[in-house]
Amino acid sequence: MDTNPEISIVVPVYNEEPIVEELCLRLKKVCDGLNRSYEIVIVDDGSDDGSFEKLQRIKEAGGTMRLVQLTRNFGQQSAVLAGFRISRGKIVVQLDSDLQNPPEEIPKLLAALTRDIDLVTTVHKKRQDGLMRVLGSKLLCRFGQMLFGDAVKLNLSSFRAMRRSVIDKIETCRDRSRYMAVLMSWMGLPSVEIEVEHHVRKKGTTKYSFLTLFKLSWDLVTGYSNLPLRFVTYLGLFGALMGFLMMAFLLYQRMANGILIEGFIVLSAVFAFFAGVQLLSIGFLGEYLGRVHSQIQGRPDYIVGKVME
Ligand code: UDP
Ligand code: MG
Repeated sequence: MDTNPEISIVVPVYNEEPIVEELCLRLKKVCDGLNRSYEIVIVDDGSDDGSFEKLQRIKEAGGTMRLVQLTRNFGQQSAVLAGFRISRGKIVVQLDSDLQNPPEEIPKLLAALTRDIDLVTTVHKKRQDGLMRVLGSKLLCRFGQMLFGDAVKLNLSSFRAMRRSVIDKIETCRDRSRYMAVLMSWMGLPSVEIEVEHHVRKKGTTKYSFLTLFKLSWDLVTGYSNLPLRFVTYLGLFGALMGFLMMAFLLYQRMANGILIEGFIVLSAVFAFFAGVQLLSIGFLGEYLGRVHSQIQGRPDYIVGKVME
C-alpha cells in the first residue's frame, strides 16, 4: 500500500465480527474505483468477539489495510482519534464499521470536498435505526445545539470526509474526552453537509444504549459548557432572595402585627430545599473538579497494542 496516499479511510471496529469481511470487501471495491492512491486504517477498539483475529486473517490473505489494535475498549472517539493519528492521507474519510454508512457513498463525500471546503459532513436520507436509538440521538443533538447556540452548526454524524488540516486543528484541542464531531462543528470550518443513504444494521447490535447516550449528553454539558455552574448560581440567587423575603415577612409580622409564626413544617420544607440546593451545587462542582483532575493526570486517550502495516 502507498505510504503517502491521497486518501485515508479510518474505521473503528468494536465487536463487529460477523460483518468485518463484508466491510473489507466493499471498502476495497469502492477505493479501487476511486483511481486515487489510498489506505484503509482499521482500528480495533479492544473487541473480544474475535473481530481482530478475523481482520488479521483477512489481512494475511492479502487484504489491503493497516490494522491497529488498542489494548482494550477505549470508546469510539478514542479509536477514531487513534486512526486519525496513524493515517497518512491528505484527505481522511471516517465511517462506522457496521456498514450503516454505506462505503459506496464515499465518492460522493470526496466529490463534495472541493478546494475551498475542509470538511464534508452527512445527514441521512432516512435513518435506519431503532426508535430509542433515533430518539436518543435526536435528544443529544438538540441538547448539544442548545448548549452551543446558533453560532455552531452541530453535526454529530460519524460519516465524514476532511482535509488533514482538520485533524491538525483537532490536535490543538487539549480536551480530555475529545468528541470529534463536536470539536469539528465547534471549529466552524468551511464545510458542507450532504445527504447519504443509511442502511439497517444487518448484523451485530448498536453499542449505544439510551443510557450511554445520556452519559454522552452529560459529558457534552460538563465538557463543553458551564451551564450547570450557572444554573447553581441562579438557584443560589433564587434561594437567597426567597430567604430574604421570608425573613422580611416574618420580621414584619412580628414587629407590625405582633404575630410569631410557628411553623415546623414550613421550616422543614425550607430546610430541605436549601439542603438540596447545596448538595446539588457541590455535586456540580465535583463534576468539574473531576474533569480537572483527569485533565491534569494527562493520560493518553488510548493505548496502542499491535500495529500491522
Ligand atoms: N465503536 C467503537 N468502540 C466502541 C463503540 C463503538 O469503536 O466502544 C464503533 C463500532 O464498531 C461502529 C461505530 O463505532 O463502527 C459506531 O457504533 P454503533 O454502530 O454501535 O453506533 P450507532 O450506529 O448506534 O450510532
Ligand atoms: Mg451503527
